[in-house]
Amino acid sequence: MDSDPYDSKFHHCSPLHSPLMCGWRRKKVTMKGGKRRSPWKKVIIYFAPCGKPLYEMPEVGEYLRETRSMFTIDCFTFSEEVNTEIYISVTDKKYVKVDDFSGGVEGIPIPLVNTVDDEAPPKMEYSKRRFQFDQTVSLGSINRDFCSGCSCEGDCSDATKCECQQLTMQSIARLPKHLQYNGKEKMIPLYENRVLHNKVISGMYECNDQCSCHRKACHNRVVQNNIKYPMQIFKTAQSGWGVRALTDIPSGSFICNYVGALLTNDLADQLKNDDQYFADLDLKDSVETHKMMENDPDIDADYGYGGDSEYNSEEEREHVDGDGEDSADDARDKTVVMKSTNKNGSSSMVETRQTRRKEQEEKDKEEKGDDGEEDDEEDGEESKKEQVEEVFNWDAYFKDSALFVVDAKQRGNLGRFLNHSCEPNVQVQHVLYDTHDLRLPWVAFFTTKPVKAGDELCWDYAYTVLNPDVERLSCHCGAKTCRRRLL
Ligand SMILES: [Zn+2]
Ligand SMILES: [Zn+2]
Ligand SMILES: [Zn+2]
Repeated sequence: MDSDPYDSKFHHCSPLHSPLMCGWRRKKVTMKGGKRRSPWKKVIIYFAPCGKPLYEMPEVGEYLRETRSMFTIDCFTFSEEVNTEIYISVTDKKYVKVDDFSGGVEGIPIPLVNTVDDEAPPKMEYSKRRFQFDQTVSLGSINRDFCSGCSCEGDCSDATKCECQQLTMQSIARLPKHLQYNGKEKMIPLYENRVLHNKVISGMYECNDQCSCHRKACHNRVVQNNIKYPMQIFKTAQSGWGVRALTDIPSGSFICNYVGALLTNDLADQLKNDDQYFADLDLKDSVETHKMMENDPDIDADYGYGGDSEYNSEEEREHVDGDGEDSADDARDKTVVMKSTNKNGSSSMVETRQTRRKEQEEKDKEEKGDDGEEDDEEDGEESKKEQVEEVFNWDAYFKDSALFVVDAKQRGNLGRFLNHSCEPNVQVQHVLYDTHDLRLPWVAFFTTKPVKAGDELCWDYAYTVLNPDVERLSCHCGAKTCRRRLL
């Protein structure tokens, strides 16, 4: 009854349907809600192959653990808008130009179809691994020795005990407080059952080769797994090739990574010729862009501010309030300032958790012994410690070191085919798992809303709009709120 979720018999169905082909049942039932306004509510109940009813995710997780099931937690969803049965296929095979564009690399086939014109499939080598652009690019820090692992023995479902998930939580805790909130709600800096609730701008730390957890079952391994949801590359009417979902996909699901050659920013600048397949790996940029978006009321941002009391200091309040001049450059200058807590900065570009912790301790000591430079008078040790923990000196960390971009032009994966939309259903999340070098996160795509089978998957290249030097390109995404320009 049990089966590997990547078994070929599941290639043409939703991963959420695979358990249902192996004795599980998923029933939508109407239950008494208890509230006066909505006395009835629709809920999903799973029935395990033995007939046991399971009402929520932790129960499913428990069941999978106890039965040592090969099904993983992301094969289940209680989201009632998802229809697990739908799978879209092209009936007229003459439109299917390639049965599997990945050539077997992805584990599930990625068909390429063209119902629009005669354009031949794009020529590129398919790879789901990233690689050196050329010999001049040094990637020595992509190495298990540059990671630290957790000591969990099971599936890392308890984030409080998993050191890897604690790293993610610590990294977001180092941001200014207002960036840790989505409106009034504190953001969840974790995967929950392999689902991403909100973008974690400081990056996610997944489990890795140093961890002792169960590789396949671990809840904290998402983007390092193969693609799970069946998708198709198709010719769009207006925007070249695009990617569409062949099944319903719940919000927060991993879609694929953006894979290609890794090269330094400087090298990319020299090449210049064809940067339409470039993606920035820059976590610092990601943080700054969000800060900038908050400063500019004309740019829609997902991240609101916490209450006034949430700001760390006068300095940060200045960032947010701005001074009325909010040109992009101005805002950028302002946002680059992330309070320097240590004049020496972090010396090493690549730090394991241990060395980082050690440095942090040293910083703490330094702070305690030296308060001449700080302009704010602090009340006591408690608040000083808090301040040090809350702001991370990104500038010092990245100082004088090469930053990287991904170039997916010649060789890459499905990620390069995702089009832009001003109303996207996919967002980028930076993830670290084969190195903890903050310059080399993976660029991973996650859905931000429930996606229906047949929908095109698009992300917002918005950050490029903020660069005034880039040549303008017009946008044809068709969204009501379209900004009409892509670059
Ligand atoms: Zn763990
Ligand atoms: Zn781990
Ligand atoms: Zn783990």
